[in-house]
Amino acid sequence: MTILGLVAAVLFIIALRGLSSASTSLLGNRFGMLGMGLAVALPFLAGDELPWAVAATIAVGGTIGFFIAKKIDMTALPQLLAAFHSLVGLAAVFIAGAICATPEAFCVATVADRIPLANAIEMSLGAAIGAITFSGSLVAFGKLQGILSGKPLRYPGQHKVNLFVALAIAALIAAFVYRQSVEYLVFAVLLAFLIGFFLIMPVGGADMPVIVSMLNSYSGWATAGIGFTLENEMLIIVGALVGTSGAILSNIMCKGMNRSLPNVVFGGLSGNNAASTAQSGAHGNVKLCSAEDAGFIIKNASSVIIVPGYGMAVAQAQHVLKELTDALRAEGISVKYAIHPVAGRMPGHMNVLLAEANIPYEDVFELDDINHEFGSTDVAIVIGANDITNPAAKDDPNSPIYGMPVLDVEKAKTVLFVKRSLGAGYAGIENALFFRDNTMMLLGDAKKVCENVLKAIKG
Ligand code: NDP
Repeated sequence: MTILGLVAAVLFIIALRGLSSASTSLLGNRFGMLGMGLAVALPFLAGDELPWAVAATIAVGGTIGFFIAKKIDMTALPQLLAAFHSLVGLAAVFIAGAICATPEAFCVATVADRIPLANAIEMSLGAAIGAITFSGSLVAFGKLQGILSGKPLRYPGQHKVNLFVALAIAALIAAFVYRQSVEYLVFAVLLAFLIGFFLIMPVGGADMPVIVSMLNSYSGWATAGIGFTLENEMLIIVGALVGTSGAILSNIMCKGMNRSLPNVVFGGLSGNNAASTAQSGAHGNVKLCSAEDAGFIIKNASSVIIVPGYGMAVAQAQHVLKELTDALRAEGISVKYAIHPVAGRMPGHMNVLLAEANIPYEDVFELDDINHEFGSTDVAIVIGANDITNPAAKDDPNSPIYGMPVLDVEKAKTVLFVKRSLGAGYAGIENALFFRDNTMMLLGDAKKVCENVLKAIKG
């Protein structure tokens, strides 16, 4: 059985390796599914005596998960992840509670009715991190789903209160470990629920991607903590993989948004992350453009960069974009795709959709690799993207997105914005680009507009 456990762990590592590149991600995902299937089957294969309720719970949970994953819209994945993380956190709390109540049932050796020091520390840390993950993920879910306002909730002395609550949790955990009295753990967990709420409420919408990946990391550490207590290698390995990969991803995303990790995690220490919903105050004339005009402009270009964003995902315009790309290439026009690290609503959102439409990986460029090319490009076509192009990130220190690197689409000779209105994006701020002389707006659903532009180009 140890060997099979090792096989499952290796499968998870191969899965992560596969997921690190778009071309191998599908295979990586399959390895992950195989590893998880094996991990779930291990106790049954080992012939452990399991109550029927365990098998029934796995079956019911698995079935619900299967149907949710089948039904969920790609655009709702971040909130689904947040909701699932909350369950991981809650599971860690429940398991810690169960171990505390009946250590022998979990093979946790007790000496004179005391849980050994190391086990007590691991378990209480796992429970506290699990509780933070639970309440923090629920808040993240509420914000991403639009149930709670995306605006940061701040109050004076917030960081001092957080520090005080964190110290109180540490003291209660120490008291539990020393005295082994369950009330201390219960209070520590209750305060941890509270601090999860306190930590995520002040985070503005623009920083939510980092928070989702950070909570992913927390759920991994909570799992690893409980794994140590249960001496379950599988939980330790999987927890550590999720914990570290989530932390690395958060760090990468912070770099992509020019944020510091402590700033995001501790609720915006610098105060510039969505502290205000400052408007850019952009005014002026907006040039509207028809699909026929756009077709004419694009057909006369020699280079085009397409910038997809959340609206492309909503409209599912990626397939018609592929047709548009093919039509332009047939005319001898160079077409490239520019991807911002936080375009859409989850890391890699645009890459997944473009890959689904069979747009070759070599046509897709990350922000750092393509930003310098806008200046020598004839047309930038922005499809349902907004915040990731907003120049306020560069020149308005009061803007909630100030400091985030953005795609310099305005440097192209002509910018065509495809969206339904002049409305704001996720961060809730105006985009001054709509009013620039070299910008033209093609208002409408991204898929419909692209179909019409394609018709104009072909015909
Ligand atoms: P934005 O949310 O800034 O803008 C998307 C635009 O798409 C909107 O302004 C909307 O304008 C338009 N739109 C919506 N539906 C359609 C449609 N059917 N057809 C055409 N246009 C449509 O998206 P970006 O991708 O530019 O930026 C991502 C934002 O999301 C960033 O602020 C980022 O921080 C945040 N975020 C990112 C996550 C990630 O991990 N990638 C996770 C969570 C948040 P209109 O209504 O006028 O059509």
